[in-house]
Amino acid sequence: MPGIDLHTHSTASDGTLAPTELIQAAKDADLEAIALTDHDTTGGLKEAAAAADVAGVEFIPGCELSVVSQNGNMHILGYWIPIGPSKLSETLRFLRDRRHERNHLIMAKLKVLGMDISYDDVLAMSGGDAVGRPHIAQVMHAKGYVRELSDAFKDYLGSEGKAYVPKEKLGPRRAIELLKSVGATVVLAHPFLLGLKGADLRGVLKQLKEFGLDGIEAIYTLHRPDQTRLYLDIARDMDFLVTGGSDFHGAVKPNVRLGSGFGELFVPASLLSTMKEHRVKLGLPV
Ligand code: AMP
Ligand code: ZN
Ligand code: FE
Ligand code: FE
Repeated sequence: MPGIDLHTHSTASDGTLAPTELIQAAKDADLEAIALTDHDTTGGLKEAAAAADVAGVEFIPGCELSVVSQNGNMHILGYWIPIGPSKLSETLRFLRDRRHERNHLIMAKLKVLGMDISYDDVLAMSGGDAVGRPHIAQVMHAKGYVRELSDAFKDYLGSEGKAYVPKEKLGPRRAIELLKSVGATVVLAHPFLLGLKGADLRGVLKQLKEFGLDGIEAIYTLHRPDQTRLYLDIARDMDFLVTGGSDFHGAVKPNVRLGSGFGELFVPASLLSTMKEHRVKLGLPV
């Protein structure tokens, strides 16, 4: 049975493979379809779509937005988003501008702590336009300010770190409505991040469904089998689409493989067929 991967990142955000390389990797892994879901940018989609055409891999243009709610942080995936300019790309540009401001604030804090990092170095570390903490961490590591990349987050850039600066985020309602307004199919990424189960989880999902959420990413690299089962049960009970993906980032997360996660992950192509049927029923293009 063919497999797919609906959650991946490229150099347009914080992955290490260029969009064309990502598509080649999907082909090498025998994946039938792949979605590119970079954080806060559509910058890699055009290249990926063209490469997928050549390689004969089905491609779904996507993105991943971080949102903040009373229930903490969540990530929202949008599928079949416009590749060109749209209301979505305008909002993504706003979010990326806030990222640049935040990056400068982080670097100012690092400077007080004795770390001299130039923004040119950070930009050079990033292949794309959603520049953020992973790129700052890589410069810190390259300059020998931290032993391991994870120390950069633990000691400085993470929410408990000495140079932490929060990121501008949309609320879940705005993010979902924005994605729906451009014709996207909208999915809650890696629901384990909410740290909820039972009635609490169902309550949050009920609200997200009222905002327009179409599905949940039940199949995900970091989900334990009991979590996957729980999310599949909830999707069936609450009439959500089910999606799945590895959250592949390339060499910055070397133990997460495209299509197969830690090795056990498998996302059946039938999930994509169901998503497409759902879109056709709504009169949306696939
Ligand atoms: P940003 O969007 O700038 O806030 O950075 C978020 C990204 O940083 C995430 O998508 C991860 O790829 C990465 N990240 C967050 N926490 C860690 C960590 N503890 N170790 C390594 N990478 C991390
Ligand atoms: Zn990422
Ligand atoms: Fe995520
Ligand atoms: Fe992701």
